[in-house]
Amino acid sequence: MFKKILIANRGEIALRIQRTCREMGIKTVAVYSTADRDSLHVRFADEAVCIGPAPSAKSYLNMSSIIAAAEITNADAIHPGYGFLSENAKFSEICALHGIKFIGATPDQINAMGNKSMAKETMKKAGVPCVPGSDGVLNDVKEAKKIAGKIGYPVIIKASAGGGGRGMRIVWEESEIQKAYDSAKQESAAAFGNDDLYMEKYIEEPRHIEFQIVGDQYGTVCHLSERDCSIQRRHQKLLEETPSPFMTPELRDEMGTAAIKAAKSVNYEGVGTIEFLVDKHRNFYFMEMNTRIQVEHPVTEEVINYDLIKEQILVAAGVPISGKNYFPERCAIECRINAEDPYNDFRPSPGKILNLHKPGGHGVRVDTHVYAGYTIPPNYDSMIAKLIVVARTREEAIVKMRRALDEFIIEGIHTTIPLHMQLMNDKNFIEGNFTTAFMNTFELK
Ligand code: ADP
Repeated sequence: MFKKILIANRGEIALRIQRTCREMGIKTVAVYSTADRDSLHVRFADEAVCIGPAPSAKSYLNMSSIIAAAEITNADAIHPGYGFLSENAKFSEICALHGIKFIGATPDQINAMGNKSMAKETMKKAGVPCVPGSDGVLNDVKEAKKIAGKIGYPVIIKASAGGGGRGMRIVWEESEIQKAYDSAKQESAAAFGNDDLYMEKYIEEPRHIEFQIVGDQYGTVCHLSERDCSIQRRHQKLLEETPSPFMTPELRDEMGTAAIKAAKSVNYEGVGTIEFLVDKHRNFYFMEMNTRIQVEHPVTEEVINYDLIKEQILVAAGVPISGKNYFPERCAIECRINAEDPYNDFRPSPGKILNLHKPGGHGVRVDTHVYAGYTIPPNYDSMIAKLIVVARTREEAIVKMRRALDEFIIEGIHTTIPLHMQLMNDKNFIEGNFTTAFMNTFELK
């Protein structure tokens, strides 16, 4: 087993990983930018190394600083968390070259899945249903028009290197395609340094349902059931829950089998997520695979009583998994609390937290790095806390979430708590009647 793990991340996920390491008797090394000097992940780690200035390109994405920090502190593994370098094949490879275990996917697995158009080709070959679309990357707008004509409008143009909902354009008719193509190309070049685009049929009003999978180094893969992430704004998740209110036992079997097939086709090891779109007829289509731990992993942990970070560490250390699939026996919901002003077009709201009261009690979990007196830097993601509840039924979970949101007091900045409160009282949400289009017509009162 590893003796010391360097956590190449910040915020709530860095703390989350530290907690598991401590329980496993593994020492931790935090890395931080100068903007994060006062962060809890720095204070709670056994050792901490400053890796650069505030901009992530110079700190949390700075591979040589991070490797140097691991070498100085004698860390034998690196956990990348999510975002930053978590799905970077080059970083995974550099770690291996330095004899440091990367707690995540191998370069080959990341390469096979990280590029979304290539991942789709791999999945098609493995017999996993995919959204109809282009065979790989689009060469030019002429080709885009031809394919759109064949599969039928509406279509969606997506960045091969995409993530976080960026580089995507929906095209309703041919006259819009040139503009959509050009702007998606520009946006993905700026965001990902790669302007390859591909095209898919735009599935109208689908659900986003993803499967958590775990694979070990010996080819065994199992699934831990689904998460419904349909509540999104601008293709970014706001709330996740498990089980999906749309799920049936038959569909879970079919999707779980497809997810395992997808992971096996790239010899996947570690925890990962297979994302699907599900249409109203319960047809499902592979969308992408995330080769890392996800923000929303706690809902799965809560319903099956499983520490997914521990599982990641065990698998990375070569421990075999049982191979048994898990099915939810309870219901969990997670609300992402962002430092944003929902009444002002979700404008980021960094700054000092003057007063903080976290909810608690039975079935309530808060994963956060913030505290009263903490100043949220403007440089990073706006998510400041995840509020997770678990209960026997979905109705009970919603009641519990309302109660917990009511107790959650954050003063000094704006947050998305009022949005979640309204969601918990929304008739359609309560009835489980929603798709990824839900937020388009949601009016904040
Ligand atoms: P990212 O990696 O940027 O998050 P995804 O491929 O996961 O991008 O897509 C994000 C969201 O965009 C999905 O959850 C869904 O709401 C929407 N989306 C993506 N592809 C399609 C499609 N073909 N049809 C309809 N909606 C889509």
